[in-house]
Amino acid sequence: MNKGNKLYEGKAKIIYQTKDKNLVIQHFKDDATAFNNLKKAKVEGKGVLNNRISEFILTNLMQSGIQTHLVRRLNMREQLIKKAEIFPIEFIVRNIATGSLTKRLGIAEGTILEKPLLEYCLKKDELNDPLISREHIFAFGWANENEIKFIDKITLRINDILSGMFRAVGIKLVDFKIEYGKAWNKDTEENEIVLADEISPDTCRLWDVKTEKKLDKDRFRKDLGNIIQAYQEVARRLGIMPEETNISEVNFGKTIPIKFKKK
Ligand code: UDP
Repeated sequence: MNKGNKLYEGKAKIIYQTKDKNLVIQHFKDDATAFNNLKKAKVEGKGVLNNRISEFILTNLMQSGIQTHLVRRLNMREQLIKKAEIFPIEFIVRNIATGSLTKRLGIAEGTILEKPLLEYCLKKDELNDPLISREHIFAFGWANENEIKFIDKITLRINDILSGMFRAVGIKLVDFKIEYGKAWNKDTEENEIVLADEISPDTCRLWDVKTEKKLDKDRFRKDLGNIIQAYQEVARRLGIMPEETNISEVNFGKTIPIKFKKK
């Protein structure tokens, strides 16, 4: 699949055109950002790991019947995906209170929620992605009631599937953010709602079940160190990377000779 012009560059990914107007290439960068871009760094190898982890998770969700934008992984840093018109909403699911929720409502860090909490934020960097209600979504036409009903249902199913997937490898899924878009389905010849973007330690909070060690982007946000080792640990536990691979010892200069398990 030939890479065409750059369509869009975000904080952690770049989207390129392809010859097919319905397909684009998603490239995972090593750039890490936090606090609305105030904190920035390059974390060597992060893009490679997120590409693999997100591919693994989305493939598993697709096997459970959830439609996603993923077509296939192309190489270490890139995936072929369906071009989707993204809803301007971040869908956040929380199982345990931490991060902005604890600050906003004065809830104790680590409180286990009675049931998963679904929150909506407007995707608007210049406003720090503010929390919005369903009524805001309908009042401004960011999505309609049927779309939100459908997305809410899938989002909670995704939470169930991912919570189980991570629990099986000794990780608690604390919270995560997902995005959806509308993409062309060439079989039905209709636009359909698909899970888009990525699901990775950049977009989830993942704690070790026993030690509560953070295995996600909070290591970067809170300067805890060993970011790449934590992401690598997630990949290893999910069975994506063989035990002996140590990404931190790999030279990221040009080629990245990391051995991954064959499909
Ligand atoms: N999250 C994300 N992108 C965002 C905001 C949040 O991926 O722009 C994820 C974040 O990694 C966490 C969850 O959504 O897993 C809830 O984040 P929270 O609102 O607590 O964000 P904070 O402001 O504390 O990073």
